Amino acid sequence: MKTLSDFNFSDKKALIRVDFNVPLNEKFEVTDATRIQAAKPTIIKVLEDGGSAVLMSHLGRPKGVQEEFSLKHIVADISEVIGVEVKFVENCVGAVAEQAVAALNPGEVLLLENLRFHEEETKGDVAFAEQLSKLGDIYVNDAFGTAHRAHASTTIVAQFFSGAKCFGNLLAKEIESINKVLKDGQKPITAVLGGSKVSSKITIIENILDKVDHLIIGGGMTYTFVKAQGGKVGNSICEDDKQELALSILKQAKEKGVQVHLPVDVIAADGFANDANTKIEPANAISDGWEGLDAGPQTRQNFHDVIMQSKTILWNGPLGVFEMENFAKGTIALGDSIAEATANGAFSLVGGGDSVAAVKQFGFGKKVSYVSTGGGAMLESLEGKTLPGIVAIEA
Ligand code: AMP
Repeated sequence: MKTLSDFNFSDKKALIRVDFNVPLNEKFEVTDATRIQAAKPTIIKVLEDGGSAVLMSHLGRPKGVQEEFSLKHIVADISEVIGVEVKFVENCVGAVAEQAVAALNPGEVLLLENLRFHEEETKGDVAFAEQLSKLGDIYVNDAFGTAHRAHASTTIVAQFFSGAKCFGNLLAKEIESINKVLKDGQKPITAVLGGSKVSSKITIIENILDKVDHLIIGGGMTYTFVKAQGGKVGNSICEDDKQELALSILKQAKEKGVQVHLPVDVIAADGFANDANTKIEPANAISDGWEGLDAGPQTRQNFHDVIMQSKTILWNGPLGVFEMENFAKGTIALGDSIAEATANGAFSLVGGGDSVAAVKQFGFGKKVSYVSTGGGAMLESLEGKTLPGIVAIEA
């Protein structure tokens, strides 16, 4: 894997694909600079070597040039985070961009305008990618969030940098973390899959059955498995057309020697609301008119015991409707268990959509080994797909 440390950027211009698709409020102020901070180590390495950095990113989904999606709104924020006055150029290709790059001195940083102001970007247009390639000597991809897209700046551009391309720090860390779970994870390896639907997680489940020792299934997916095995699920979320699939997953797991752990008890509610009445019920005997919205106490204990024996843990998806305080207990307890196992030396990776939101909301971010920054890219990695942005650097 080619990384930044394979290059000396002295007197070189690094063309860096970053993910600065940050949230802005109505005054165009950045409300969460996490993605800018995440790109900082890569930019600093280039500058400290004595090189200059040309940053390219998308912001939102503009249709053509739309002022509200201009990256000019975030120049001051980037300058503040990296501690260097960032220059800006109002196009990402063409003469104006080339001149701005030519005028760049070692130690300086230039931000190009939103890549998606050109429709060629998402189309993966080769001529557009070639124009981008004129803006640097070495191509660095540090945008994991778009690594699953074969866009011009994330994938196609790499073909113009034979031998002079590498992963940035952030992307390298993402790849290493995924490998630490799926390729060379220390056993026992446990995957926790929660969230709402079996249908959205099925490819992940099928891929990881070959890699893990324990599979914990929780959240809304529980009830499809419970009903398929003859249990009563009341009004709980359930995909009737996925029951056969659920049984086939359990069969495959058995054949592969994977231990599957499902909730044994749940917090059932008489409505989908935080102030609904609740009671603890067996996961396979939920009263008519009630629905399971969180893991029950015995389930939390069972999952804790599995997590504490694990050396490698992957977590994707909440164990309950954590957005409502009264149904967040299972998700919080799981986060606590994973934090404790991590403190004892386990490697833990949290990735994909809502589990990242939950980890942030409940403050587990610093207590797990790694929190992935890329929702879709992480999910596709867990599904076993090779991401075009990664393949392009390795080619
Ligand atoms: P996903 O995007 O598939 O990871 O699903 C995340 C969503 O699943 C969250 O918004 C949770 O509120 C929801 N969820 C988790 N457990 C349940 C449950 N028992 N019933 C309904 N929704 C749930």
